[in-house]
Amino acid sequence: MRKWLYGVAGIALLTAAACTPPADAPAEPENGAAEDVAGNGEADAAVHQDNPFFEASWDTPFGAPPFDRIREEHFVPAYERGMERHAAEIAAIADNPEPPTFENTIIAMELAGTDLDRVSRVFSTLNGSASNDAIRAIQREMSPRLARHNSAINLNEALFARIDDLYQRRDELGLDAEQARVLQVTHERFVRSGAQLEGEDRERYAEITARLSELYTQFGQNMLADEDAWRLVLTEDDLDGLGQGQIAAARQAARDRGVEDGYVITLSRSSVEPFLTFSSRRDLREQAWRAWILRGDNDDANDNKAVINQILELRLERSRMLGFPTYAHFRTAGTMAETPDAAMQLMEEVWWPARATALREADDIRARMAAQGADHELEPWDWRYYTEQVRTERYDISDDEVRPYLSLDNMIEAQFWVAGELFGLTFHERDDVPVYNPDVRVWEVRDRAGEHVGVFYGDYYARQGKRGGAWMTAFRVQNGLTGDAPLITNDANYNKPPEGEPALLTFTDANTLFHEFGHALHGLLSNTTHPSIAGTAVDRDYVEFPSQVLEHWLLTPEVLSRFARHYETGEPMPDALRERIIAARTFNEGFATVEYLASAFVDMAYHLHEDNPGAIDVRAFENEVLERWQMPDEIVMRWRSPHFGHSFSGEGYAAGYYSYLWASVLENDAVEAFHEAGGLYDLEVAESLRLNILSSGNSRTAMENYVAFRGREPRVEALLRNRGFLDDSE
Ligand SMILES: [Zn+2]
Repeated sequence: MRKWLYGVAGIALLTAAACTPPADAPAEPENGAAEDVAGNGEADAAVHQDNPFFEASWDTPFGAPPFDRIREEHFVPAYERGMERHAAEIAAIADNPEPPTFENTIIAMELAGTDLDRVSRVFSTLNGSASNDAIRAIQREMSPRLARHNSAINLNEALFARIDDLYQRRDELGLDAEQARVLQVTHERFVRSGAQLEGEDRERYAEITARLSELYTQFGQNMLADEDAWRLVLTEDDLDGLGQGQIAAARQAARDRGVEDGYVITLSRSSVEPFLTFSSRRDLREQAWRAWILRGDNDDANDNKAVINQILELRLERSRMLGFPTYAHFRTAGTMAETPDAAMQLMEEVWWPARATALREADDIRARMAAQGADHELEPWDWRYYTEQVRTERYDISDDEVRPYLSLDNMIEAQFWVAGELFGLTFHERDDVPVYNPDVRVWEVRDRAGEHVGVFYGDYYARQGKRGGAWMTAFRVQNGLTGDAPLITNDANYNKPPEGEPALLTFTDANTLFHEFGHALHGLLSNTTHPSIAGTAVDRDYVEFPSQVLEHWLLTPEVLSRFARHYETGEPMPDALRERIIAARTFNEGFATVEYLASAFVDMAYHLHEDNPGAIDVRAFENEVLERWQMPDEIVMRWRSPHFGHSFSGEGYAAGYYSYLWASVLENDAVEAFHEAGGLYDLEVAESLRLNILSSGNSRTAMENYVAFRGREPRVEALLRNRGFLDDSE
C-alpha cells in the first residue's frame, strides 16, 4: 500500500482570495489589494456629491454595493480617499503614544481601511466580470499606486515595531487562540513584505513590488487582448460534428460580435474546447487549437514572453532580499507544503501513474483512429475529438445526451439543496439588490433558525469583457468585530442561451458550478472574529479543498433524482445514464492530470531557477522541463506560459499551481470520512466539516483545521484510487 503523509504543519499566511478549478483562470488579488484606481488628489466636494463611495454606508438591502449608482468616474476619487483615510488610520496606530496592546494595534489594524477595501472589491469585480477600456485604463493607472500604498504600510517601521513588540511578548499577553493566531499571521505577513529590511533594501523592495504589480496587469491584459481579438468564423458548411446547443452558442457568439451571417468560435474555453471535441473538420480544429495555445505568444504587441522574464527576475531578487534561495522557497514557506520539495514529491508521486494512464488512453485513441481508417498521426488537436468517440463507444454517453438534464437553473437549485441538507442553509432570491449586469442573480442566505447569514450573487454567463474561467470573490467578508455579514459572488462563463431557452450544462460545467459554490460556502459560513483570517483567507494549497469537496455531491442519487430533470419533459435522468456517468468518471483522467501537472512542473521550475531567469527562453524552457518528465507528445500543458495567468497575472498561484493537487489529496481523503460514516449525507460529519473547515477560516493552521475534522493527517491513497491510478486490489 502506498503511504504518503504530510510533514508537520507550517505557519499559514497570506490570504488566498477567490479561485477556480484547474479548469479555469486564477484568483483575484489578495486582500482586495493590487487593483486600484488613482487620480490626482484634491477632492472637489461638488464632484463627489453623487459618488456612492463617499457615503459612510449604503442604503441598499444588506448594505450591498449600489451598482445602479456606481459609475466609472467614481473609482479614482474613491480610491484616493480610501488610501488617504487608510494611511491616516495606520499613522494613528503607528504613532500612538500609548504602549502597544493587542487592542490598540492589531484590532485597530483589522478595523482600518474599510473604505479602501470597499472600493477595491467593487472595482475588482467589475474588472473581472464586466471590463471595458475605461476600467482597464483605471486598472493600469492605479495598480502601481495601490502597490505603493500597501508597501508604505508594510514597510512602516513604527508600525512594525509595535507588531514585533507584541509578537515577542505574545505568551504574556493573555490572548485566546484566535487572537494569538491573528498576531502570528500579521507578524509573518509583515516579515514577508520586507518589514525587517534596512536602508536601501526597503526602497528597492517597494520598487520591485510596484513594478511587479504593473507587470501582472500587463500580462493579464495581453492575455485578454489575444482572446478578444481572435475568432474563427464558420459558415453552414463548417459545422460538421457540432451539436445543436453548440451551433446555437456559436450563432449567439457571432451575433454578439456583430457577425451578420455565420457562426463564431472564440478562444474562451467554453467555446473552443467543445469545438475541439466535436468538430470533425480536422483542418479547423488545428487552426483553433494553434490560436488557443499561442495566446500571448505571437511575437506581437500582446506577447507575454518578455513580461515573464521581467517577472521572474524581480521575484527572484525580492525573494533573496528576504533570505530565501528562490521564489519557490519564499512562496511555499508557511503553506501546508512548506517547501518546494514537498510539493514536487507529491507531484512526482502522482505523475508517473498518471502518465502511464495517459499513454494507455493514447493507445485506445489510436485503435479508434485505425478502426476509422484515419491516415494521420495522433496530434494534440485530435485528442479531444477521438477521446469523445472512445467515450461514447465505451460508455455510450455523450455531452449531448447529458446536457438536457442539467439546466443551469436546476443545478443552481441543486447546490442550494445540498447546502440545506448538509448545513441547514436556505436561499431566497431577491430582485431588489442592485447588480452590475441584468444577468446577475442575487439570493439572501439564511440559517436553520431563519437568521441572516449573508448574500450570494451568481454571475454565470460569458460576456465580452469578462475574463475566462470561474471564480468566487467577495464584496464584503464576514467580520466578527463589526458584525458585517458576507457578500459572496460566484462567476462562471457558461454560454448564454438564446432568449427563452434554458442554459444547458455539460457535466463538467455542472461540476464547476458546485466547485465554485464550495468556495462560496467557505465565505458564507465563515465565523471568525477577525476579518483578516475569515473565510477563504487561508493557505492557497488548502483553499481549493472545500470547493473540490463539494463537487462530490453532484453525482449523488439524491441530487440527480430531484434536480437532473429533462428541460422539456421534466423526466428525471434515467438511472442507467447516471450509472454510465459514474462509470465514465475516471475516463481520460490520465490526460487531465498530465495536462495539469505539466503546467504545475513548469510553474515550479521557473521559480526554482536561480541563474538569471531574465534570460530564459520561454519556449525552450518549457520544452526542457517537459522533456525531463517525458511528457507525452500528444498532450500539451493545460496553460502554456504566455497565458498562464495562475503563475504570472498576479502572485496568486505562482510557484503554487501544485495547490490544486495538494488540496485534492485533502478532498479525496475527506470524502472518505463521509463514506466511513453514514455516507455523503451523514449529518455528523457534515457538521464537523462546517465547524472545523468551512467556518474556521485561518483561525488555526490548515493542518490543525484538517486534523480537527479528520482526526488524523491526510493520506494520498484516496486520490490515487479515485482517479483510477491505483488498483483497488493493491
Ligand atoms: Zn477553486
